[in-house]
Amino acid sequence: MDSKAGSTVAPRSAASELRVLLDSPEIAGLVCDLANTRWTGRPGYPLRAMVGVALAKSLYSIPTWTRTVALVREHDALREAIGGECPSVYAAYRFAAKLRVYSDLLDSCIARVLERLRAERPEFGRDLAIDASDLPAYANGQRYLSKNGPERKRYSDPDASWGHRSAVSTRKGGGGFYGFKVHAAVCARTDLPVAWQVETARAHESSFATALLDAAKDRGFAAETTALDMGYDTEAIHAACEARGSRPIIPLKQTPGVKRGDHRPPECEHGTWTFAGSDPARGAAKWRCPTGDCSPASRWIKADRLHPLVPRESKRWKSLYRGRGSVEREFGRLKNEWALLPLRVRGIERVRLHADLTILAKLASALAKTRTGPLLA
Ligand SMILES: [Zn+2]
Repeated sequence: MDSKAGSTVAPRSAASELRVLLDSPEIAGLVCDLANTRWTGRPGYPLRAMVGVALAKSLYSIPTWTRTVALVREHDALREAIGGECPSVYAAYRFAAKLRVYSDLLDSCIARVLERLRAERPEFGRDLAIDASDLPAYANGQRYLSKNGPERKRYSDPDASWGHRSAVSTRKGGGGFYGFKVHAAVCARTDLPVAWQVETARAHESSFATALLDAAKDRGFAAETTALDMGYDTEAIHAACEARGSRPIIPLKQTPGVKRGDHRPPECEHGTWTFAGSDPARGAAKWRCPTGDCSPASRWIKADRLHPLVPRESKRWKSLYRGRGSVEREFGRLKNEWALLPLRVRGIERVRLHADLTILAKLASALAKTRTGPLLA
């Protein structure tokens, strides 16, 4: 057995886990949908075996098809789980090409898994957290041709670009990297992803928050709140969240208005006004004179970035913002335990397929666990 693969993961039951996934109605549906396309590639292996190898790659946290095929070939229980015969590495490459062509079928499969997870736990996806994370390219990422030399013009992955790690991340520090970013909306209660998007690293994360909210909505998630870090604190993102019926939970960026104190609650001769509830339909929050001696004693303040409907001073805001940790935790798990990294494919379409298959394996495993026990992240 491949020693690296063996040491990284391999829960004893991985082969039976793989069989359970392949037998689940959601994954079996994908196999069936792919069969119905009457793919006319060279005669290969049964689609169940191909989907099985793709899932094994993530379950065993193996970066390449070559090593995955080598593992399945030598592992009797795994080979049995996928139907008895192990496909060749070339068949795996051809299968990956087919999946890129039929990405809509893969999308439907992911949507079915998410729908099932939501049926198991209605609070799944009610509070979301959105963030982006770096995916360094499988390419020469040396920015300069030599020390103090000219910047490199050609890279082995032309879709990748230089980007910055999140400026507000305190854990790894900033710094540039060459590659892609995965932007994701994650359920803050279960840590499971509900929508994601891979883009070249240069693209700024705030450009994708709205698309992720829409993708989550298309998959049936009506998020009541969305937590994001300070990098997303713009009027446009606040408005986009509110327009989709989701309260934005975003720390305040020190803009000139904030320095002027425009975000502070109203004040009067009786003191600082207090928050008295908000009305999402009206798009405003009610604030009240502390003694009630003003006339009127309360007034509505329209929601915006400086005055969100869930005020930043409130307990609820603080508790919801803690949920933002879910998205960082999930990126870590996907990268370290499910082989989202290191990338061993080039080109954005291949990187997107890799991310989709990795996250599908993770979600389908979580669903399998709900069928036998509690939902685990
Ligand atoms: Zn007053």
